[in-house]
Amino acid sequence: MSFDYDYIIVGSGFGGSVAALRLAEKGYRVGVMEMGRRWTPDTLPKTNWSLSRWLWRPEIGLRGFFSLRIFRHVVVLSGNAVGGGSITYANTLLVPPAKVWNEGTWAGVADWHKVMPGHFATARRMLGVTTNRRLGPADQRLKQMADAAGVGDTYYPTEVGVFFGDDGDAPGTTHSDPYFDGAGPERTTCNGCGGCMVGCRHGAKNTLDVNYLYLAEKLGATVHADTKVVDIVPREGASDGANGYRVTTRAMGAGKADGGSRGVFTCRGVVLSASSLGTQDLLFRLKLSGSLPRVSDALGDHVITNAESLIGVRYPRSEVDLSEGVAIGSGVYIDQYTHIEATRYPKGSDSMGLITTLLASGRPGWHRRLVWLASLAGMAVTRPRALLRLLNPVGFARESMIFLCMQTLDGRLKMRLKRAWYWPFMKRLVTTGAPIPTFIPQANDFAVKAARATGGLPMTSLTEILFNIPMTAHCMGGAVIARAPGEGVCDGRHRVFGYRNMYICDGAMLGANLGVNPSLTITALAEHAMSHLPSADRQDWNDAAADVPSAPRAGGQTA
Ligand SMILES: Cc1cc2nc3c(=O)[nH]c(=O)nc-3n(C[C@H](O)[C@H](O)[C@H](O)COP(=O)(O)OP(=O)(O)OC[C@H]3O[C@@H](n4cnc5c(N)ncnc54)[C@H](O)[C@@H]3O)c2cc1C
Ligand code: SF4
Repeated sequence: MSFDYDYIIVGSGFGGSVAALRLAEKGYRVGVMEMGRRWTPDTLPKTNWSLSRWLWRPEIGLRGFFSLRIFRHVVVLSGNAVGGGSITYANTLLVPPAKVWNEGTWAGVADWHKVMPGHFATARRMLGVTTNRRLGPADQRLKQMADAAGVGDTYYPTEVGVFFGDDGDAPGTTHSDPYFDGAGPERTTCNGCGGCMVGCRHGAKNTLDVNYLYLAEKLGATVHADTKVVDIVPREGASDGANGYRVTTRAMGAGKADGGSRGVFTCRGVVLSASSLGTQDLLFRLKLSGSLPRVSDALGDHVITNAESLIGVRYPRSEVDLSEGVAIGSGVYIDQYTHIEATRYPKGSDSMGLITTLLASGRPGWHRRLVWLASLAGMAVTRPRALLRLLNPVGFARESMIFLCMQTLDGRLKMRLKRAWYWPFMKRLVTTGAPIPTFIPQANDFAVKAARATGGLPMTSLTEILFNIPMTAHCMGGAVIARAPGEGVCDGRHRVFGYRNMYICDGAMLGANLGVNPSLTITALAEHAMSHLPSADRQDWNDAAADVPSAPRAGGQTA
């Protein structure tokens, strides 16, 4: 049998890029299918008002790289591009506390405490993680707020994947490849413009297209941009994929959602790296259509968020430009479970101001909405100009400190593919299960007190107040690592239960709430997955998941 590729990788984010490089290094022929576009510093938008180049909503012609999807329980933010979420993410790359390996569905499935430190070290080196050296006014203000709240000793500058150059380098200094012994592209030092989440136009952000993917392409991996995978089916003669797979794609070119020209590729193995939402969506469709019926019924279970909340403080007519610095410059722990990061958009990128409003306390639901309306009415009488300024998106980035708040407490959802009552024409991912907390009371309290002490106005997202749902940029799980198919979708070596030579390497595999931004963990776990594959000349194409029925759990909760 002949194959177009040895491995096809679906999605080019943190998991997919690692897989592409490591498989190419091992001598495999690799094809990466990515439905997003390829961006360069010249094509990235200058501000996020350029909606057609910022937002990803291809069905209405918006082919940017930032996606916002509203579910019943949560609004999920994510990235779609060559380089996945790395194009829009905020560069923060943190190692989670060791206890996460004892919790959730992956506890006891592998000797995580022994193997992961090495993979984290590799991931940090590849992504150029270093301590933030461009602390801006918002970071200094967070420190003052933390001091005033008595938690100043927990303040830290973030660990980020950004190039700052040598000590004493001026912002904007260009160096030949500083990371990969000359094999990588040249890099330019960060100028602290705060633009990381609108895409770095200055060559300073360590996005995947300048490290893992760049090196993979140099080794011969082919990246098919604007190409969405819509079907994966085992080839004739072996329903478990032992004879390889046929992968069908659709072109996502201008004006096409996923109905563009069709492509069919064959491969011996598949790596699913389409993100938590993307991998769940694809696997649900393929399980339902009969292409991959053996995928575990646990698909869609154990969807986790970092229990996040996006709040902040706005300083109408602020004299200080709070947009300076890197996107997430610093953080504090306000208690043992709750962590706040100072986040920003660059000057002029104010469109997120359209979905923020005055922070209100009260019980979630109608009570909170009424408190919010009463607060707005009160302000309209007592401080009408400040209210207008708060609600006016123009100036939002320059005048705001955005707090990204996260908790390590567990909150789980389920996702299913269903017809929603408001759009019964097609099935789409929906969330089910008990509601997850809409806001973090301790973090709200911190924002209110900090605003009062510094002359600002506390703010929150409109979705939190109006629809009683939180926003998350860290949707994780849904096709998790577990001991057996009853508990998850893949095993401790990321192999999909029921199929051969099929792996999950993205946020979908995460089995516990990390409590910190997940990209470094996804990268390290993808390194872990790929470390088990032999070089191409020693491959027997017979790799299948193993249940681990007798392994004792290391502790923590079960599924
Ligand atoms: C604004 C923002 C800021 C963030 N900041 C941080 C941060 O500072 N630190 C951090 O750790 N995390 C951050 N995150 C989260 C981070 O981006 C994600 O956790 C991470 O990108 C997930 O990696 P992944 O490998 O699971 O998939 P992704 O990086 O999301 O990549 C998946 C890719 O698969 C593609 N895809 C999906 N379906 C298909 C298909 N059917 N066919 C072909 N391609 C497909 C998608 O287009 C996408 O490019 C942020 C996210 C956002 C939105
Ligand atoms: S702050 Fe500006 S220059 Fe620095 S990494 Fe972010 S976008 Fe690039």
